[in-house]
Amino acid sequence: MTTDTRAPDDDQPLPLADDSKPQRQGLPAELFMETVRQSPIAISITDEKANIIYVNKAFSEITGYAPKESIGCNESMLSDQRTPKKVYDELWGKLQEQIPWRGRLLNRHKDGHAYLAELTVAPILNLQGETTHYIGMHRDVTDIYLLEQQVIDQKLLIETVVDSIPVAAILLDETDRIVLDNQAYKALGSDLGLREPSMVFLESLREEMGEEWERLKRGGKGFRNREIRYDRGGRYGPRWFACAGTWFSRGDGGVDGFFRETARTYLLLTLDDITQQKKSEADIRLNALKALMAEEEKMQSFRETLLGAMHHIQGPVNLLNAAKTLLERRGREQQNTALLDILEQILAAGEESMARLKQCLPEAEAAGRSPVNLNQLLHESLVLLTHRLLSAGVVVDWKPTPVLPTVMGLENRLRAMLKQILENAIDAMNQSGVAKRELRISTWPDEEAIHVCIEDSGPGIAENLRIKAFEPFFTTKNSGGRRHSGMGLTMAQEVINQHLGLIRFDPAYKEGCRVHIQLPIQNRQNLEQRPYAHG
Ligand code: FAD
Repeated sequence: MTTDTRAPDDDQPLPLADDSKPQRQGLPAELFMETVRQSPIAISITDEKANIIYVNKAFSEITGYAPKESIGCNESMLSDQRTPKKVYDELWGKLQEQIPWRGRLLNRHKDGHAYLAELTVAPILNLQGETTHYIGMHRDVTDIYLLEQQVIDQKLLIETVVDSIPVAAILLDETDRIVLDNQAYKALGSDLGLREPSMVFLESLREEMGEEWERLKRGGKGFRNREIRYDRGGRYGPRWFACAGTWFSRGDGGVDGFFRETARTYLLLTLDDITQQKKSEADIRLNALKALMAEEEKMQSFRETLLGAMHHIQGPVNLLNAAKTLLERRGREQQNTALLDILEQILAAGEESMARLKQCLPEAEAAGRSPVNLNQLLHESLVLLTHRLLSAGVVVDWKPTPVLPTVMGLENRLRAMLKQILENAIDAMNQSGVAKRELRISTWPDEEAIHVCIEDSGPGIAENLRIKAFEPFFTTKNSGGRRHSGMGLTMAQEVINQHLGLIRFDPAYKEGCRVHIQLPIQNRQNLEQRPYAHG
């Protein structure tokens, strides 16, 4: 083996071991030499002690040392001395095992400035398998490193800024994958008991916004103040979030976009927890509701009294009508004429009384329909009934579907109906002999309707009374301190009919009474008013 250690100039021949046979592959040795010479990578060849015996042009350009200045010197002349010793130990450890080493070192340029070198060192072996030389190849990666640092710094900066946003923020790609999130979002996950809350919110927003979602996305626009109510159920109260989203497109940063621009769409979603604000609004609302419901209950009881009176007058009036018809059929004999006259007078008076009573019937509420969240109405009804539930020792098991689609309906009437069913359940459990007092309420949607199930652990309702219970003035209740006119379920049925829904007692339920209500889901598309937005 020979090595050429002449002081080389730019055209120096690449020293090759005698046993190197590039010609074997049909390529002349000169071609390899030229390749090394022209390579943009700094290449040096050393003896087994790292003494330099060859450098190429790029080596001189990168290190600042001309071939004459580096040949014969040790590679350690490039060391900046700030590279930790363990890096060199590792380098030499690998070389001793005849394994190439690759890593980053801090090198010092001839003019004194430091640069970051990405170095690959490999042993060159002779035919006996002994290391005779080393080849070193390095490039200056200072600029790349600075860019990397810049990217890392910027990422840190962005993360710090995003973390300091007081609302939960998430950046999602087109496949709903989270690209970036903040601490508030992570905290929200554990708060709601969800591993990935974004999925629940996305699903609900898409559902509520329908085609609008795609339209805004296509236009690269956004939305604000979409309120979502989240009912975790159990001992947790409802939570409210004001959601905002902005779509934007960015180049995807991959090699695919090097020659042809490719863009990806991202959604920045923020979830602002407005539960406190909603709670205070709800308190004000509940107080107003209490007053309203007390007023409505008064009206209702007035209506029921009048209807009761009409019901009771109607009976004798019908009998008198029948008597009159009978007498008329027998013919107008002398003695019947006087009786018929009296009957006609009584009937006229009866019908006039009925007409007067009818006029006195208060008009039912004429409010318009709006999107209604049944979870909210049930929750409000429970709050309104808190006192009764506590004094009856009823345990409430509240199992709502966390994010429930809305129904188009008459809010006050629906609330009154649900409150009525809940009151019936409390009344049933208040009966003596009922030891276990459990009220289970659940809600769930299907394709077309929202279902509400109210179960109580009372005595249940006999099979033959399940239909009859909806008839006017039918009641099985003895007073128990409350007035029972037997109009509650009639009213409930009327409200359900107004909403094209269904209400029934579940015949399969044997542990008490289960009322199953079904109300059709609103047609979201034609709504102007925001679902869940209650002022
Ligand atoms: P040391 O690590 O002790 O090195 C001093 C010198 O002792 C070495 O240069 C070498 O001549 C000799 N030596 C140390 N350990 C061994 C061993 N196990 N076997 C044989 N000789 C040994 N370093 C850089 O900082 N920058 C470079 O660009 C660079 N390029 C290199 C290219 C090649 C081909 C080789 C083989 C080494 C290269 N080195 C480079 C490593 C360099 O040789 C030194 O190890 C390093 O610079 C640290 O030097 P030092 O004086 O701080 O201490």
